[in-house]
Amino acid sequence: MSTTTSLSKSSPFLFLIILLCSWHAQSHGHNDFLQCLSLHLQNNIGISNVVYTQNNSSYLSILQSSIKSRRFTIASTPRPQVIVTPAHESQISAIVLCAKENGMHIRTRSGGHDYEGLSYTSEVPYIVLDMLNLSEINIDVEQKEAWVQAGATIGQLYYKISEKSTTLAFPAGACPTVGVGGLFSGGGYGPMLRKFGLAADNIVDARLVDVKGRILDRKSMGEDLFWAIRGGGGASFGVITAWKLKLVSVPETLTIFSVGRTLEQNATKLIHRWQYVAPNLPEDLLIAISIGPTNSSKIGEKTIQAIFISLFLGRVDQLLHLLEENFPELSVRREDCTEVSWIQSALFFGGYSIGESPQVLTSRNPKISSALPITRFHFKAKLDYVQEPIPISGFEGVWKLLHEREAGMTEMLIVPYGGRMKEISEDALPFPHRADNLYKIQQLAYWDEPGPGASERSITWVRRLYNYMTPYVSKSPRAAYINYRDLDLGVNNAADDTSYAQASSWGLKYFKNNFEKLVRVKTMVDPGNFFRNEQSIPPKNFQATGSKLLVLNRFIRQSPFFKLLNLMMNISPVSPVESELEDSVCPIQPFHEEQKNSQSSF
Ligand SMILES: Cc1cc2nc3c(=O)[nH]c(=O)nc-3n(C[C@H](O)[C@H](O)[C@H](O)COP(=O)(O)OP(=O)(O)OC[C@H]3O[C@@H](n4cnc5c(N)ncnc54)[C@H](O)[C@@H]3O)c2cc1C
Repeated sequence: MSTTTSLSKSSPFLFLIILLCSWHAQSHGHNDFLQCLSLHLQNNIGISNVVYTQNNSSYLSILQSSIKSRRFTIASTPRPQVIVTPAHESQISAIVLCAKENGMHIRTRSGGHDYEGLSYTSEVPYIVLDMLNLSEINIDVEQKEAWVQAGATIGQLYYKISEKSTTLAFPAGACPTVGVGGLFSGGGYGPMLRKFGLAADNIVDARLVDVKGRILDRKSMGEDLFWAIRGGGGASFGVITAWKLKLVSVPETLTIFSVGRTLEQNATKLIHRWQYVAPNLPEDLLIAISIGPTNSSKIGEKTIQAIFISLFLGRVDQLLHLLEENFPELSVRREDCTEVSWIQSALFFGGYSIGESPQVLTSRNPKISSALPITRFHFKAKLDYVQEPIPISGFEGVWKLLHEREAGMTEMLIVPYGGRMKEISEDALPFPHRADNLYKIQQLAYWDEPGPGASERSITWVRRLYNYMTPYVSKSPRAAYINYRDLDLGVNNAADDTSYAQASSWGLKYFKNNFEKLVRVKTMVDPGNFFRNEQSIPPKNFQATGSKLLVLNRFIRQSPFFKLLNLMMNISPVSPVESELEDSVCPIQPFHEEQKNSQSSF
């Protein structure tokens, strides 16, 4: 702000010139980009169907269709100058080359679930490359393999697999609307992680468009780049167009349960005991916990509830036997359990009733009655890994903090590791969080009221909870998961000025020692740092050019005078989007107040 103010005071004329140049450069940048695109695309007939500028009547609905965090639906959220929705992989090469040629920045979006909105927001002029139309899925039952294009959701993938087989599956996330482009490139865990590891552990090939516009597969990209995109985040390395998956075998019958225990029902002791049990259970069994405030049985009082949510890859008799042997304190009864097929378990973890048609999993914007908070409300999340059991007193401090919040507007989601996660070495993939961890713990604050007051209060609160957790969680580094992106951990400098030292602040937390190798791969494949964002991997010794100008450009774009100028030049203003967002749901956790209506979650 001070840059703009002092500049305008010292030389109003210079300010005006820069303003006009800035406007001119921006509008021309994207016009030239569009011109370039029409020249380069082999089949020009389709261009109007895949390019959306701010003047296009579908621009806003396309932009909003995949925004999965309401925090980024407010009017002040930056918007792309152009959205491109390629209909074919080959069009992506042209998009990358034209963007590069015209100084346009690319944000690639698959499912739009980025926790910090990085797939559709940017501080510098940019285009969104939305993979929406590239969602083909081919299943080869005999080879137990599948090709899935990056724009597909995991719900679509699960449904396609279930159409072909009742004993094949894929170990990815719980929420069906998450895109495979982002989920798999950051790792991707789900209810079967203790048996089969991450989604990224089960990828055998990929297709990617690199900075030179080349379409590469595993063989032509080489093992280092193939390693990097399975957990290092795709956005730093190119545009992933498709993944080849190794499908896994599951029994015809699995068992699920979800049981709630309040503080009055011994929840603290059960959670404390769970830490010793859950990470050491046989790998066929996962018991996760969702913790949150809820109404007590005493009218007008609040309590804390822990919901134990489980998937067992086997029948109920076997499960009850295992629970009796390992965790009798939880007192799970036969009537708490339900035998299901794998695809029904996907419905359960996706928040649907197991009686629903599996086809509902294919919806990108479902509306279901068990709607859960993460997509209904604004949220901010923090993530920790726990390596030593937390003492009872530690949990009691957490309850105090949870009681400070309105009931139901916060949650802690705990997922046990062990099993397969313990067997895979830390450097097998960029995702390093393996044998050292007992479990991971996600801390979430939700809020509904618009305006900065509520968001500031909620974000401050979740940061306090995170600070409180410091003595109980991983240290040096305090580890984090790139798919639960958290810009509090640090960001690259504005514009194109990416510093290795600065990136280490968050890079070491996400990737530990693998950060160094990711930097080496980045330096090899994208030395000019074309594919970048606030938390992209920096190339080594990268010399930024023009970053100060871009920062200035940002100040200018945000100035009221520039907005007025835009209006005068008849550039259509974009209306606020808050109220227009679909009330989509993506229930990765139960909302404690609404637990009775909610089938399940994770
Ligand atoms: C409701 C909800 C539920 C979730 N559940 C789980 C879960 O069960 N397990 C889990 O592990 N995580 C989960 N996550 C986190 C999720 O894995 C990440 O947010 C993931 O990055 C989302 O992928 P996406 O394609 O939907 O998101 P996007 O916002 O489209 O992309 C996320 C990041 O990946 C980049 N990217 C996307 N597509 C490509 C591509 N084709 N090529 C290169 N880069 C690309 C984007 O530029 C961005 O940096 C959940 C998130 C939400 C909001």
